[in-house]
Parts: sequence; structure tokens; C-alpha cells
Amino acid sequence: MLEIKNLHVRIEEDGTEIIKGLNLSVKAGEVAAIMGPNGSGKSTLSYVLSGKEDYEVTEGSITYNGEDLLEMDISERAAAGLFLAFQYPVEIPGVPTMTFLKEAMNAQRKQRGEAELTTPDFIKKVRAAAKDLQIEFNMLKRPVNVGFSGGEKKRAEILQMSLLEPKLCVLDETDSGLDIDALKVVSDGVNHLRDPNRAVIVITHYQRLLDHIVPDTVHVLSDGKIIKSGDKSLALELEEKGYADIIAAAAA
Ligand code: ADP
Ligand code: MG
Ligand code: MG
Repeated sequence: MLEIKNLHVRIEEDGTEIIKGLNLSVKAGEVAAIMGPNGSGKSTLSYVLSGKEDYEVTEGSITYNGEDLLEMDISERAAAGLFLAFQYPVEIPGVPTMTFLKEAMNAQRKQRGEAELTTPDFIKKVRAAAKDLQIEFNMLKRPVNVGFSGGEKKRAEILQMSLLEPKLCVLDETDSGLDIDALKVVSDGVNHLRDPNRAVIVITHYQRLLDHIVPDTVHVLSDGKIIKSGDKSLALELEEKGYADIIAAAAA
């Protein structure tokens, strides 16, 4: 589903290279974890996948379902089923969460050349998804993320993700300091999204999220490269030995 080959990325503003020859392949049905110390380039990777400006790919390729992802703009990526969840959710005062969700779904449908959802159809879908994810329907009448607790923000994000029926979800949870409630929401949400036709990439600094989301594969990112890959036991090894040991061993 996703094939990243020899990716090099630099910050446009000052030319600093952050991703330095990264290779990664993720199959449909797979839950892949990317772990790495602070500053290793985890968020940069998620920004490049999302199509954010300010990052320049100088070498390498990203293929998504056989297509060149780097040739697609942000709305084409969304229409093609890519969903990125960011570390810092945006508050939108005055816009009820429901309205926001409807706009997001209709934008995706428009890009795909599909008809807009009618309000009754939309309500039906949101109710079903909210029930599935045990989300209070009333929460969705409140403005997007305004005054939401960490757990509520995560709930809203997971709901949005499930409504957009993504094929590839990327969650960057690195520095968000998830409390126990939010941690459970994210892990339940991801486990709920597991599907043979879908892939999930969970980016995290901490092993504890992976106690709840058992990944199929674990990749260690260090200084802009994947230096080691393995199964879920690699996450436990990281927890036990720390990044420094694993990085030193991989370099030896
Ligand atoms: P991680 O998510 O693994 O902590 P990041 O991708 O956020 O790492 O950052 C990787 C490195 O790139 C860090 O050294 C960071 O300071 C630097 N960096 C990221 N974004 C920018 C930017 N816009 N301008 C300058 N340096 C940046
Ligand atoms: Mg960081
Ligand atoms: Mg980060």
C-alpha cells in the first residue's frame, strides 16, 4: 500500500536535511509502529505524507497504492483515502463539530465526483459511528475542539477518521502527552479501524501506546533513517534497553 524508497527531505527555509534515505513499506491490513527519539524526524515524515508545504523532497519516492503520492495535492490525498491525525488539534470556535464533519465528508465526496450527503444520511452515519466509538452525540454539537479534554479531542479525531473511511491512517502521537483516557480512546479507535483493506501507521515515542495497540511491525527511526525493523517484540526491547543501545547496536 505504501512504499517509501530512499527518501530525502529537507526544510525548505534553511535547507537542513531531516530525512536522510528512509525506506519503509507498509502492506494493507498492517498496523505499523514507527518509534524514535525526539528529533529523529518522525513528525517530518508525517508532514511529508500529508503534503504539508515547507518540506522539500530532494531524492527518493513515495508510492501509495501504485500511485506517486508526491504528485498528489492535499485534497487528492484525502480523496484517495489517506488520513493524517496531527499532534496538535486545531480549535475552531463557532463551528459545531457536526458541521465540520459534514464539510470534511462532503469535500472528500466532491473530490471523488460523488454527490453531497443529505442531512438525514449524514446524521445516520454520524450516529452509527458515534455509537460504535462510544461517543456522546451531544459532544458533537460543541465547537470543534474548543474546551475539549485531551480524551474528547482524541474521540473527535477518531470519529472523523472513521467517517472518512480511510485506507491509510497515519497517527503522530509523539509528544502529545496522552493521558490514560486519551490513550485508551486512541488505542480502541485504532483497533476498531483494523481491517484487511486498511493500513495504520502509528508514530510514537513511547512504548506504552503499543501495550494497547499491538502492532504487526515496528520500525525504529533515528537521524532520518529506519535503522531497525521487527515485530512487536522490538517495541518491548526498546522499552527495556532504551534508544541509545538499539541505535548503537544498529550502527555497529
Ligand atoms: P520528531 O517528531 O521525531 O521529534 P521532527 O520531525 O519534529 O522530529 O524534527 C526533526 C528535526 O528537524 C529536529 O531536529 C527539528 O528541530 C528539525 N525541524 C523540524 N521542523 C523544522 C523546521 N520547520 N525548521 C527547522 N528545523 C526543523
Ligand atoms: Mg518532537
Ligand atoms: Mg514529532
